[in-house]
Amino acid sequence: MSYKFWFCTGSQDLYGEECLRKVAANSANIVEMLNGGKALPFEIVLKQTLISQETIRKTMNEANNDPECAGVITWMHTFSPAKMWINGLRELRKPLCHLLIQYNEEIPYDTIDMDFMNENQSAHGDREYGHIVSRMGIERKIIFGHWSSLSVWERLARWMRTAVGIVESSHIRVCRVGDNMNNVAVTEGDKVEAQIKFGWEVDHYCVNDLVDYVDRVPKGDVEALTEEYYSKYTMLYEGRDPEEFRRHVAVQAQIELGTEKFLRDGNYHAIVTHFGMLGGLKQLPGLAIQRLMERGYGFGAEGDWKTAAMVRLMKIMTKGIPDAKGTSFMEDYTYNLVAGKEGILQSHMLEVCPSVSDGEIFVKVAPLSMGNREDPARLVFTSKTGPGIAVSLIDLGSRFRLIINSVECKKVEKPMPKLPVATAFWTPKPSLEVGVEGWIMAGGAHHTAFTYDLSAEQMADWAAAMGIESIVIDENTRIRELKNELKWNSVLYR
Ligand code: MN
Repeated sequence: MSYKFWFCTGSQDLYGEECLRKVAANSANIVEMLNGGKALPFEIVLKQTLISQETIRKTMNEANNDPECAGVITWMHTFSPAKMWINGLRELRKPLCHLLIQYNEEIPYDTIDMDFMNENQSAHGDREYGHIVSRMGIERKIIFGHWSSLSVWERLARWMRTAVGIVESSHIRVCRVGDNMNNVAVTEGDKVEAQIKFGWEVDHYCVNDLVDYVDRVPKGDVEALTEEYYSKYTMLYEGRDPEEFRRHVAVQAQIELGTEKFLRDGNYHAIVTHFGMLGGLKQLPGLAIQRLMERGYGFGAEGDWKTAAMVRLMKIMTKGIPDAKGTSFMEDYTYNLVAGKEGILQSHMLEVCPSVSDGEIFVKVAPLSMGNREDPARLVFTSKTGPGIAVSLIDLGSRFRLIINSVECKKVEKPMPKLPVATAFWTPKPSLEVGVEGWIMAGGAHHTAFTYDLSAEQMADWAAAMGIESIVIDENTRIRELKNELKWNSVLYR
């Protein structure tokens, strides 16, 4: 879907035709500049200046009914009495942004008169309109600055991606071919409530329904994809017989092709597996799942459908970002507690998305320490450095909480030749100590949806739009305040 955003300028008819002509011309100019600037991921469409209850209500409902419209950007060029916005805003179901911009940048000290002030009174109009949005309790994004400033453009661009996440959330369909791992608590959750809150459809199949698809993949296709693996990745035989090695790799090629067709036929965008429920599959899907994630599918291991849906959601929100660094399913494994080198080694049994990889990607075939299948082939690599966010959606019984941790990804000091899985390594913000204590206090899971390409603010905005609590653990987090925030939130979100 090529989404568009509507630009709605608020005013009133008190100022006369001449002023309204200028308001419309200024709006058109801003929209033209924003669209021409290449900073925004989606096109902005200028709507008529809104000066009456009827046109506001009509425009908001047209936005609701246009599947291409992912959000409404409102700007008060002048003063727009806010009672006339009430009915339209009450009916609006698309993400809303209040752009606190002004056409004029500097006060023209020598020439300013009342006509100029009446025309350039965003500071006045913003407060009237903002008041009614606050009074009505409507979730919206507020972005302040001059319309030509890079920071306004960047923040608007990021909000647009959040808005697409809000609109697209209800299209996410997760396919489970394995249930939640026995006795694991944090990956459980209320699927009905998830559909009510987020719009997700979470269905279940017997894993052998998938096996039927895998078994039907033509041999020639398996051979061709295996050949592609061999041309794209570096095989690390580590003493294994090359022919036996290739047979193991080919099993993953067959699983990849069968699984993709299975997901396409069922219109699923995310998949959940379980190493203990593999039916007729010869190997736990490893390399296969890694490559499907790279193509935009969500994934969660051990039945973790919440994380699978979050990975899919974040893949959608980051789609098309120039120089994107990657988004993946991830799991917290082991700490490094050495002073100055603190961090958490991230990995999974197999399933880390190669979109986060840095440098060469290897294929290894190695035993799984769990389950009873043949040694699966998997992609092995290390991940990029730089800031990112790890996100965990948990079910607290009566409600959901989204926990978002800003992290700094680093290289580990030395290679880990005996570890046959892809890894990342990060130091949580504000520090390993506070980051981990905060995460555990908030109830965050070991599984996360991780990305380099979204901010904590974007995910917190998404959570707010879904009507759920979010906890951000970042450079400003202090444990005592976090503890209070969790207590206060428990009263607010019942
Ligand atoms: Mn796991």
